[in-house]
Amino acid sequence: MKEQLLNDPVFGMAAGQFDRVADFLNLDERVRERCKWPKRIITVSLPVTMDDGRTEVFFGHRVQHHLSRGPVKGGLRFHPKVNVGEVAALAMWMNWKCALMGLPYGGGKGGIACNPREMSMAEQERLTRRFAQEISPFIGPDIDVMAPDVGTSSQHMAWILDTYSTREGRFVPEIVTGKPVVLQGSEGRTQATGHGVAFLVACALEKLNISVAGATAIVQGFGNVGSYAVETMDAYGMKVCGVSDITGAVWNDKGLNVAELKSHLAKTGGVAGFAGAEKIDPDEMLLQKCDVLVPAALERVITEKNASGLRCKILAEAANGPTTQPADAIIEERGDIFLIPDILCNAGGVTVSYFEWVQNLQRFSWTKSEVLAKLETKINDAFENLLHFCAEHKCSHRLGALATGVDTVAKVKKNRGLFP
Ligand code: NAD
Repeated sequence: MKEQLLNDPVFGMAAGQFDRVADFLNLDERVRERCKWPKRIITVSLPVTMDDGRTEVFFGHRVQHHLSRGPVKGGLRFHPKVNVGEVAALAMWMNWKCALMGLPYGGGKGGIACNPREMSMAEQERLTRRFAQEISPFIGPDIDVMAPDVGTSSQHMAWILDTYSTREGRFVPEIVTGKPVVLQGSEGRTQATGHGVAFLVACALEKLNISVAGATAIVQGFGNVGSYAVETMDAYGMKVCGVSDITGAVWNDKGLNVAELKSHLAKTGGVAGFAGAEKIDPDEMLLQKCDVLVPAALERVITEKNASGLRCKILAEAANGPTTQPADAIIEERGDIFLIPDILCNAGGVTVSYFEWVQNLQRFSWTKSEVLAKLETKINDAFENLLHFCAEHKCSHRLGALATGVDTVAKVKKNRGLFP
């Protein structure tokens, strides 16, 4: 199993980062091994009746990296390239993220290899419910709590909630987060990740003495995270000049009209063909001059091929794992890019998921402004702590963020001891 995981490029990247941090922390060998490998890897086959009457079998995975600090928390991804190595890597990053943010969770992640863009909502519902049913012995509000990720939304969480609640014979809203508000989802959860990204971008701009109003940004990915990051940066008075998604990339030197871009997306399903902009090659877009570059799509998009050509002052990693290790080394060596590492940059999502879970357990709800204010306080504290840690230890933001998360988990494991 170890070999199989290490052969996956995304898990190999997460494991490589972990090894570097474990060396930096001089982690005890026994704790080191326990921190590195996932506790549970669950793979299920999912037969689904398609709209044309065929039965198609999909494969779904759920990886629970560790349960030492509480239930695992993490998204469920629908994407054709999902595999167990990628899911295990994303679960590992969720650990360090939850620990960095001081949330009482371990890391988890799930994924189903499928193409939601080619499936009807009825097919997606049957697939989601079948997955929830198959993994129901392994999940629960105190064991594993899912949330939306790439290719899934609040609607998918509603189906999981319904399937789990029906099985339990009672309403269990705390089984998932990122669900519709009418099902006791939290106000502010939908925009939380993108809002957190934009908030951190503004904090970083201020640290670099660059005025937030008028600062330029480029965003790769215009889904949940990317679109709310764009909307919030636009509301701050920033100029978002380039946006890309799976359909292509669009550019306007003067800044895109975000409201019009969103309505174009609603009509056509993508940013390509937006009248208020020029077409640009998506890879070239990443290399344009800007104050802030925000990868908000998938992992491993900043590589050794493009890292030296980046012309941004801030790299805000809204996606999980967007920068490969060789690219990281180039960015560190360059020293002219202020990195907001993924486990901090996109932590707004899991932080408000935590708020949602707490509200559900208490059968109580906060207003959107209360939620976003609490989110900003938590993110700001984590950002300042990180800068302090990095200054004290003379290390990069990547290393500092991962080291803070790994160190917390390692201490918990050491204190609990090893059973039997
Ligand atoms: P999403 O499915 O809502 O959006 C993904 C976007 O990426 C879409 O606009 C899609 O068209 C675009 N995309 C896909 N392939 C692309 C490519 N090759 N080039 C350019 N764009 C491409 O997903 P999301 O929830 O916004 O997640 C995006 C990233 O943020 C993922 O890495 C995810 O793990 C991470 N993340 C999400 C959350 C959350 O709350 N949703 C929280 C933390 C981290």
